[in-house]
Amino acid sequence: MKNITVIGAGTMGNGIAHVFVQSGFSVHLFDINESALERAIGTITKNMDRQIAKEKLTESDKGSALSLLTTGTNLAVAVANADLVVEAATENTAIKFQLFKDIDTHAPGHCILASNTSSISITKIAAQTTRPDKVIGMHFMNPVPVMRLVEIIRGYSTSDEVCDAVIEMSKALGKTPVACNDYPGFVANRILMPMINEAIISLHEGVADVQAIDSIMKLGMAHPMGPLQLADFIGLDVCLSILNVLHDGLGNPKYAPCPLLVNMVTAGKLGVKSKEGFYDYSAGIKEATVSSQFK
Ligand code: NAD
Repeated sequence: MKNITVIGAGTMGNGIAHVFVQSGFSVHLFDINESALERAIGTITKNMDRQIAKEKLTESDKGSALSLLTTGTNLAVAVANADLVVEAATENTAIKFQLFKDIDTHAPGHCILASNTSSISITKIAAQTTRPDKVIGMHFMNPVPVMRLVEIIRGYSTSDEVCDAVIEMSKALGKTPVACNDYPGFVANRILMPMINEAIISLHEGVADVQAIDSIMKLGMAHPMGPLQLADFIGLDVCLSILNVLHDGLGNPKYAPCPLLVNMVTAGKLGVKSKEGFYDYSAGIKEATVSSQFK
């Protein structure tokens, strides 16, 4: 697999494109939104500069990596020569189903179609295509250049060959792949999201304030980030949509999203990406303070 197409240039898409070009693969980054592509190039460049400052990358490595990256807004062109497509578009079932139908139409027959979905069924995504054996989950963690895990999700029809190829590819990126089966939330989010939801319920019920909840989980459980800050970082809209998938898919009321999370997403408070969630990021991520609504 030489030619990689990454679909969606948001938080995850730019990180995925970053690690592929840094490992020597040609990447075409596709988004429907031209400004998302421009932002992605800026973010990748900034993150590579950070790696240079930490002496983890040289200027010449950066130049070589960026020369492997192209961008575009035409899907048929974007996937025409792809050996592997990694889809990282918005976590919305209708968007992903339509994308996989279109990608299947335009990508070469041998091309493997991977989704970075946090929770949508790989088996259902695969059913939108004529090649369900070549559809797989490749779930990178945020921030992609830093986090080692890739959760590999085998759909009901994913072939052993495709699973092995994607595991080898993940290793070629310097990541550690771990495979699981296709059930709602897979492993990572089935366990993480109920914890984040419980932290939001604790805030909603007045058990403790934002900083107390995050400090208790950081200091007491050795988590590098508290659950509310982590939710802001992931995106509150992404958290809500994963909880809805768990709730609908497993049919258990314990997964019902906290009404406070629903309200915040409805009000456009999405966390870091909208500059406000449980914390206010208008002065920068490192300067975050508790959002005024919780003071
Ligand atoms: P995001 O909102 O930052 O970016 C989504 C991008 O998709 C946007 O640039 C948008 O313009 C683009 N997009 C929307 N419709 C599209 C289409 N039809 N074709 C191409 N691009 C389209 O979202 P994100 O946080 O990067 O999440 C992307 C995927 O990664 C989701 O499936 C999410 O569940 C998953 N994921 C997210 C995280 C996280 O921490 N944010 C972690 C792991 C996995």
